[in-house]
Amino acid sequence: MLLLTVKNEPKKPKNMKTNKKTCLVTGGSSGIGLSIVKLFLDNNYHVFNVDISPSSFGEFCRCDISNVEQVTDVINGISQKHIIDVLVSNAGIHFSANIENTSEADLDKVFNINVKGAYAAIKAVLPNMKANNNGAIIVMSSDQALVAKHNSFAYNLSKAALASMAKTTAVDYAAFNIRANAVCPGTIETPLYHQAIDNYCQKSGANQAEVHQEEASLQPLNRLGQPEEVAELVLFLASDKAKFITGSLQVIDGGYTAQ
Ligand code: NAD
Repeated sequence: MLLLTVKNEPKKPKNMKTNKKTCLVTGGSSGIGLSIVKLFLDNNYHVFNVDISPSSFGEFCRCDISNVEQVTDVINGISQKHIIDVLVSNAGIHFSANIENTSEADLDKVFNINVKGAYAAIKAVLPNMKANNNGAIIVMSSDQALVAKHNSFAYNLSKAALASMAKTTAVDYAAFNIRANAVCPGTIETPLYHQAIDNYCQKSGANQAEVHQEEASLQPLNRLGQPEEVAELVLFLASDKAKFITGSLQVIDGGYTAQ
């Protein structure tokens, strides 16, 4: 009798196609996002990479994250076929300038990608996660949400907004068993980091090797972070091991903000 009851219970599909958990990563073609895509693939997730530039890791969905309509269409398409377990809202750009040198167009560009992109992605996955009464959202913020860095007016602002977005989402959707956390990396060695250093050296004439060494020495651990290290934190936050963690800002910065 007991056996029969168990047998007749409808099976709850983890994923309508593959029976794997599904993770969506925005900006998964490079740097931190690429490491996240690879680590989730290694951990048996079905991974969608929502990015403007192509990559051969995960299932690639071309999408400009700053275009709300495109983001909504892409995520709705995935939602129709898959239960979305995890969203990693990671796509972002850096812009170096103080407030006086930040034009309205510069500010809009940074906010459209960094903030509006995350808004669009989170908003689009929520109906799916609510229907499944389960979900983990990880927003890629920055140590610059907590401390200001020079010449990063728009970026600092956008990362503080993302930290708030994670907290607000956590509070609003806890009742649906949806967790939202922000990851706040310090300086991580990625193409974005190298681009920022190249730009700085070109403008100032500073020596590249010296600037890299200086950057490393700013961290108490005296080195830059690696994208794989951030990916491990994201995987943990997405997992059931972190099921009591929501609304938090998780710093991974070699001790930078502790000083
Ligand atoms: P990256 O430049 O290596 O990768 C960014 C990815 O985002 C790329 O694949 C790019 O194609 C994608 N992207 C950019 N604009 C897009 C758009 N409009 N639509 C869709 N995709 C777009 O950068 P990264 O260093 O890996 O940074 C990833 C995230 O981590 C960013 O949000 C960044 O702000 C954050 N972060 C980075 C550092 C660091 O030191 N590298 C530190 C703290 C936070």
